[in-house]
Amino acid sequence: NFAGTPVAPFLTDAAKLIDSAKTFIFDCDGVIWKGDKLINGVPETLDMLRSMGKKLVFVTNNSTKSRKEYGKKFESLGLDVTEEEIFASSFAAAAYLKSINFPSNKKVYVVGEAGIQLELKQAGISYIGGPEDGDKKIDLAPGRFMEHDQDVGAVVVGFDRNINYYKLQYATLCVRENPGCLFIATNCDAVTHLTDAQEWAGGGAMVGAIKGSTKKEPLVVGKPSTFMMDYLASEFKISKSEICMVGDRLDTDILFGQNGGCKTLLVLSGVTTLETLQSPDNSIQPDAYTNQISDLLSAKKV
Ligand code: PLP
Ligand code: CA
Repeated sequence: NFAGTPVAPFLTDAAKLIDSAKTFIFDCDGVIWKGDKLINGVPETLDMLRSMGKKLVFVTNNSTKSRKEYGKKFESLGLDVTEEEIFASSFAAAAYLKSINFPSNKKVYVVGEAGIQLELKQAGISYIGGPEDGDKKIDLAPGRFMEHDQDVGAVVVGFDRNINYYKLQYATLCVRENPGCLFIATNCDAVTHLTDAQEWAGGGAMVGAIKGSTKKEPLVVGKPSTFMMDYLASEFKISKSEICMVGDRLDTDILFGQNGGCKTLLVLSGVTTLETLQSPDNSIQPDAYTNQISDLLSAKKV
């Protein structure tokens, strides 16, 4: 295997793992649900962990929805989860701007979907762009140049199914020409699993386009960056060494947990296969792996 990293063991003692953590952070897609379908045994597992006094937190890189909308999604799946327990990368972008006291006379240009706009609105941050620019066309008449708002102090880029040349040019002008304009990425996932049929280009595609035109590196607020981890640890006053991060993806979830100094558990109910985990090319090894989170139910006292 890669550079001598030992391959992660299969989880055999769920009770011991549960004992060792006070907080469980769950990734969403591939762990709690797959698309709109709840994964087997999830309600019972979350109930058991809550009854054992564990704090539960849910983190998703999918920026297309707001925290409030995810709250509704959990509810529709019959899961008792509050908005305050949910950290989506859309929320993270707004929380980051708040944390740096983003000036109230500045605005954000959004390349992304409604989730980012809803979170910026909730945080009291002005924005332009987003889905509203989805139908806009560029004007290439001789001598015509594209105006852009000098008050844009940050460009936030996330997954955007209606990205177009207008948005790319607008975002590029802001980042390149507005002094100090920030370039923030909600996440850089290479692919997403919009449907089971195949892998689809992920948020990393949109972020990559603007990296390409600006030659700048974005500040990433989603997994595996530590922003959300630091934010929720400080918000809930929890120690990162007492967190177990549970996810289905090595380069986002498991790395996110490891970057935060947490315990990590990989589940095979999402995108990572046992073959990928054990491949000689893989250097990211969780503390343990299991099939799905309901395997934790074996720790239940009878
Ligand atoms: N981004 C998009 C657009 C997605 O559709 C998904 C998964 O559905 C993700 C990111 C990854 O989400 P998660 O971090 O919950 O696995
Ligand atoms: Ca996932």
